[in-house]
Amino acid sequence: MRQFLIAGNWKMNLGPAESKAFFTDMSALTNDVGTKAEVLVCAPFVSLSTALEAAASVKGFQVGAQNLHFENNGAYTGETSASMLKELGCQYVIVGHSERREYFGETDEIVGKKVAKALQEGLTPILCVGEVLAERKSGEQNKVVETQLKGALDGLSADQIAKTVIAYEPVWAIGTGEVASPDQAQEMHKFIRAVLAELADENVAASVRVLYGGSMKPDNAEELLGQPDVDGGLIGGASMKADSLFKIVEIANKLT
Ligand code: PEP
Repeated sequence: MRQFLIAGNWKMNLGPAESKAFFTDMSALTNDVGTKAEVLVCAPFVSLSTALEAAASVKGFQVGAQNLHFENNGAYTGETSASMLKELGCQYVIVGHSERREYFGETDEIVGKKVAKALQEGLTPILCVGEVLAERKSGEQNKVVETQLKGALDGLSADQIAKTVIAYEPVWAIGTGEVASPDQAQEMHKFIRAVLAELADENVAASVRVLYGGSMKPDNAEELLGQPDVDGGLIGGASMKADSLFKIVEIANKLT
């Protein structure tokens, strides 16, 4: 039985003061998110300490990061290592988000190095994959996602792959208000498991959590999370307000 993971991605939003206010709002809604779904927000680096401290007021609520560097330390101005994130108290880190691929030149090779480093340091990578609109329109989405998965996971052991979370994020659905249909999501998530079975084995493919990301909101979460191979959401816009994120958490709890 895979446990839902409801993960917010605040992107370059919510500095320390706003992060604190988010948790003030969240703790007015609940002081315990329970154990049915895992609940997480991935905050900007500068907000991590404040968010981690503030999240302690809501039992079960976790805070992760949005990126890491693949080296341990050294002359990499502006970068943050896996061990630094671990030291702060993060368990999860987003890797290879489409915005990093598009605006910061992250290739599958770089993404793969980051996934490997996160795993080595005991962090759980949330590896993002997904096609752009033109690739979906030309029917290449499976090929694109397969290449991204293989590029990032090749060379890892089955045990390491088992510790990874995958987020299927069709780029055309991120921040656009357009959402993949439940059938499109289910079809791709099932395909992702087939690729994972090839890279590791059937047991690993059945145990890895595959999240959907792309304009998930309280009003479409139930049908997406209700698909058999959808194990949670990576949520941008709707994770920035405590009440909308909490509504999605409640949906996941109801479906558990
Ligand atoms: C994201 O940032 O990964 C994302 C899915 O954003 P949104 O929910 O706003 O589409």
